[in-house]
Amino acid sequence: MNSEATGKLQQALASPREIILVPHYNPDGDAIGACLGLCRYLGQSGHRARVLAPNDFPQFLKWMPGSEGVLIYDRNPETARKAVAEAELIFTLDFNALDRCGPLCQLLSEASATFVMIDHHQAPDGYAHIQYSDVRMSSTCEMVYNTIEALGGLDRIDAETASCLYAGMLTDTGSFKFASTTPRTMRVAADLMERGAPHTEIHRHIYDTNRPQRLQLLGCALSNLVILPEYRTAYITLSQDELDAHGFQKGDTEGFVNYGLSINNVVLAAIFIENREEGIVKISLRSQGDFSVNDMSRKHFSGGGHINAAGGRSEASLEDTAARFRAILPEYENQLQHA
Ligand code: 5GP
Ligand code: MN
Repeated sequence: MNSEATGKLQQALASPREIILVPHYNPDGDAIGACLGLCRYLGQSGHRARVLAPNDFPQFLKWMPGSEGVLIYDRNPETARKAVAEAELIFTLDFNALDRCGPLCQLLSEASATFVMIDHHQAPDGYAHIQYSDVRMSSTCEMVYNTIEALGGLDRIDAETASCLYAGMLTDTGSFKFASTTPRTMRVAADLMERGAPHTEIHRHIYDTNRPQRLQLLGCALSNLVILPEYRTAYITLSQDELDAHGFQKGDTEGFVNYGLSINNVVLAAIFIENREEGIVKISLRSQGDFSVNDMSRKHFSGGGHINAAGGRSEASLEDTAARFRAILPEYENQLQHA
């Protein structure tokens, strides 16, 4: 965090404030971990802080300290409206364009609070008064740690705050294996361990609490896998009927897309998941090396993200979306061959 942003934030937090912290739509481990970690820190620093999520988050994140207090906008719009109206400061964490918080977008764009953005995605919008944006960062949770450090508050990170931040770093780095993991990332994780984050337990909560049906859904996804060796690409489709047949719950498909990328010589992987309720196909894209799925998603799938991990959507049917994906691959053939 640069000194200008630090100075502004210090000033904004100089007296007790009403604060809300907002993760993106369909919050993941990094977004929820960053919100809950920073929320707890701010609460212990004399502020009144709470987390307001656009919609619910997966069960495998609900062990996180403070998760029971998260206000969910689409379940409680009136309470959320009141919280936004009362807020003096609004932290938006792990996203950088207000439309990423879906149904909350309108409410936030009318808020009079001071906005603070902490985020590591590409191409930030300029809505925040205080902006800490850095695409080189492994995770927003690592940036929240840096923010607390810049505020001189590291000693206020207790085991609960450390657990939230560690969990977000763990999930956004693919257990500290993605290229975004730096020596500094490991040092921050080590410090969080020293402050009490129980790393084995956190890993178990996130990765080893599968329902049998989720594994069967994974089996279904893998049997739908299509490999296109000429484009070094693999993709998976999951229809709403297939999700329903396996008792789908939010978060069940997390990580499925990575199986495509685990195939020898594959550098681009995608998953297309039908969501009949929203009338869309949710798209996740992953890549190896310097092939930018952020660019691909921005151009073709109304989305974005990072170079090696991006998301998007399509309003076409599942079959048409997969066909569209196959049809754009020739445009990228050269890049895919050299990634
Ligand atoms: P996932 O595929 O796990 O949903 O998301 C991968 C990355 O892309 C995450 O960093 C996520 O924040 C970002 N992302 C996912 N969906 C969208 C989207 O619809 N729009 C944008 N701009 N980013 C997205
Ligand atoms: Mn993130």
